[in-house]
Amino acid sequence: MALLVQKFGGTSVGTVERIKAVAERVKKSVDGGHKIVVVVSAMSGETNRLVALANDISDEPLAREMDVLLSTGEQVTIALLCMALSELGQTARSYTGRQAGIRTDDAHTKARITDIDTSSVLADLDKGHVVVLAGFQGFTDAGDITTLGRGGSDTSAVAMAAALKADECQIYTDVDGVYTTDPRVVPNARKMTQITFEEMLEMASLGSKVLQIRAVEFAGKYNVALRVLSSFEDGDGTLITYEEDDRLEQVLISGIAFNRDEAQITVVGVPDTPGIAFQILGPVADGNVEVDMIVQNVSGDNRTDFTFTVNRAEYDKTMKIVQQRANELGAEEVSGNTSIVKLSVVGVGMRSHAGIASKMFETLAHEGINIIMISTSEIKISVVIDEKYLELGVRALHDAFELAGQPQAQI
Ligand code: ADP
Ligand code: ASP
Ligand code: MG
Repeated sequence: MALLVQKFGGTSVGTVERIKAVAERVKKSVDGGHKIVVVVSAMSGETNRLVALANDISDEPLAREMDVLLSTGEQVTIALLCMALSELGQTARSYTGRQAGIRTDDAHTKARITDIDTSSVLADLDKGHVVVLAGFQGFTDAGDITTLGRGGSDTSAVAMAAALKADECQIYTDVDGVYTTDPRVVPNARKMTQITFEEMLEMASLGSKVLQIRAVEFAGKYNVALRVLSSFEDGDGTLITYEEDDRLEQVLISGIAFNRDEAQITVVGVPDTPGIAFQILGPVADGNVEVDMIVQNVSGDNRTDFTFTVNRAEYDKTMKIVQQRANELGAEEVSGNTSIVKLSVVGVGMRSHAGIASKMFETLAHEGINIIMISTSEIKISVVIDEKYLELGVRALHDAFELAGQPQAQI
């Protein structure tokens, strides 16, 4: 008998028919002798719909109220799924984040889980119930509802699996595993049977939305056995592994990630004095905005240009902060660009091989794609390009690194 956490994303619970199909799948696992905690997302499109409602009322909706609003989506699904399970003769109990003891900090709309009190969930499991948990939500010490950032149900599932010491955390979604790149952009992308934790972490942090980055971080921290698989077809999906192995020597590039949510801000003509980066980015950090890539140009006449990228959703807010700062610093102007994307090649094999970067740049140049910014780490190279070249760039790189043609790694 195993204890499994099974998470079903928005598309997988997008209609009543699909909720019934999820119930069937869960029931099968119970009949197989397993204890099951199910984590569900809101029905597909629902969270976007709620965000749009808020934006119709305010440019900057109150964060606390935003969380009250957004958490309703998941509450619908837990109730419906429990009803569907009951129709199949399986007792199930729905849990909101608070009922499941999922405590977070108070960073509304992107809160972090700090603690989980599993006592009620464990008691229900012991009674033979399926526990159905609303993903994406928690509560603060003050009792306020929080949400965990878009895609946060993955994190709810992994955190719950860690807290319960579950045997496996299964992320059921609308693709049958983790691919070399988004199969919606590159139809001949290859499904991986396994991916190392490190690579998955990079892929997720660089924009592969198949798993939320925090879910992968959590899995690594608590060594949660994590698997991505299809909610529509049977199969083994992709297992996230923690061991280094021989394969690492052979595979240079394991995948291509991209992020459409990027925006760029440039402060033109700031005085080139010590501490300038801090003076510009300090207030941005104080505004709780995460900065991604940063480039400071070499100065000519004691002035320099300072460029960085942020999430597109935080562009307006960041622009306001930076414009004010730029005036105080006597900068010439602040410019911005919201039609950029970030494209990255990822692979642990890169560590021991030179030449990946030049191959990447050559491939993009050959397609006439201009590189706006570059950043590298031990196992990834990222570039910022114009968004209109995203598909072309991803496909060209996928071909150049022969990701489609590679045989499945023998592990
Ligand atoms: P869910 O609603 O189940 O959480 P998501 O839309 O968040 O599903 O994540 C699944 C999607 O992730 C897929 O439909 C696919 O388009 C996208 N995706 C991006 N990169 C990858 C990748 N490398 N492998 C598989 N899917 C990917
Ligand atoms: N419903 C939330 C979202 O759309 C959380 C999730 O689906 O993981 O972002
Ligand atoms: Mg998701």
